[in-house]
Amino acid sequence: MKLYKKETHTIERIAEVRCNCCGKIIEKNKYGYSTDYLSVEKRWGYGSSMDGERHSFDLCEDCYKRIISAFKLGVEGED
Ligand SMILES: [Zn+2]
Repeated sequence: MKLYKKETHTIERIAEVRCNCCGKIIEKNKYGYSTDYLSVEKRWGYGSSMDGERHSFDLCEDCYKRIISAFKLGVEGED
């Protein structure tokens, strides 16, 4: 025989995404999904001056375009 007890679990869901660069809220479309944005997570490794640090940030499309326009070499990819 198994006896069960009730447990309550809390889950975390993304309520809002803000662009780290301009602070703008990444809007949701009519289906409740955030419009496209860049999300970066990086854990710096051995040999880096930031060894062991974990960085993450999100960028809206406008800030992404502005930042990559300053690159000496353009981004690679398909369109
Ligand atoms: Zn932005």
